[in-house]
Amino acid sequence: MTISCRRRILRILQGTAVSFFLIAPFIKTSNGNGLIRFDAERLRLYLFNNIITFDNFFVTSLVILLFVFIFIFVTQIFGRIWCGWFCPQSFFSKLITDLSGKLKKNYRRAAAVFLALLSALILSLNWMWYFIPPADFIYGAVNHFGGTAYIIWSVIFIALFLDFAFVGFLWCRYLCPYAKMQTLMSDSDTLYVGLLKGDEDKCINCLACVRKCPVKIDPRKTPDNACVYCETCIVTCEKVLSKRGGSSVIGYNWGSVGRFTVKRANLLITMSIALLLSVMLVYNVFESRPLFVKYDSLYESGVGNYRAELKLKNGILKNTIVTFDIENGGTVEPRTVSLKAKEKKKITVTIRTGAEHSGDIKIKAVTSGGFTDTIILKKRNN
Ligand code: SF4
Ligand code: SF4
Repeated sequence: MTISCRRRILRILQGTAVSFFLIAPFIKTSNGNGLIRFDAERLRLYLFNNIITFDNFFVTSLVILLFVFIFIFVTQIFGRIWCGWFCPQSFFSKLITDLSGKLKKNYRRAAAVFLALLSALILSLNWMWYFIPPADFIYGAVNHFGGTAYIIWSVIFIALFLDFAFVGFLWCRYLCPYAKMQTLMSDSDTLYVGLLKGDEDKCINCLACVRKCPVKIDPRKTPDNACVYCETCIVTCEKVLSKRGGSSVIGYNWGSVGRFTVKRANLLITMSIALLLSVMLVYNVFESRPLFVKYDSLYESGVGNYRAELKLKNGILKNTIVTFDIENGGTVEPRTVSLKAKEKKKITVTIRTGAEHSGDIKIKAVTSGGFTDTIILKKRNN
């Protein structure tokens, strides 16, 4: 794959990832919640139309552990690929440098500060919207600015502004904890950016790549944990050597032997732990769903009158009261039923929809904690 083709893919990936994270807080799923949102008050994660409850300490621990192991696994293979390809910090830092760099020298600093302000505003708001829906956050800002959420937002905004305006890529080299931890995670087979194997003697020592490296390292002396895989050195070297009929002597290398291998004890251990954690998580998330409603049978006991047997299960460790409503018109008796923590119950309900009702019967069940489930009872004659 040519460098320009890979750069295009990189830009598309970055653009897609950043756009997704900017847009996601505005997307609502069919259960009325955000596509991805953490409800800190109720300790719930809304994730792609699912609700993960965190009142179960075990599930919370599994989620955190799984993220940690996936993170370690990806780093063991690809090194700091996240930093150059997806990290919002490096994306915005690079954008600010590139955009301000296009202006005349006198205006560059002022433009960089303005862009830092704008980026910090966008990112800090975006971050908060993963916890508070955008409309509620804006309403709160207009009506009672000064609450805890707005103090947190102000701190994030100021920190990001200072980072983008004055620290930039130096964060990646000196401050980012990921860079420090990478020393423990990567090994001699991890992917890195550096002089391509076999092309070392084609370097003309022009030092253009060294001058352009945003984290101020020598790309010819990598692997270096400060490298963020931004590819600036690759593009720079390509520009220099293409004028001489060659191509970049810097690129991606698979570790010291230049070949990808999975036969690495550390990689296999991490992969096994991540797989085990995934299985445990899926099982436990399924088990800790706040409410399960199933129905065994639906009998018509007269025109517009039905009797259904429902199986209920309270998946959480708290007592709850479930309230039923017929979504498409009608009544249900009993309308409420109480369930103890983790209790399973079988009940019979009577449904009256009226003779004119057509189609299947949709029962909406809402727990006292606000979790909603809808079951569709398919009509059939008995
Ligand atoms: S060595 Fe190359 S890829 Fe790594 S940070 Fe410097 S310019 Fe970016
Ligand atoms: S830009 Fe390329 S040729 Fe110039 S010093 Fe760097 S690696 Fe060598």
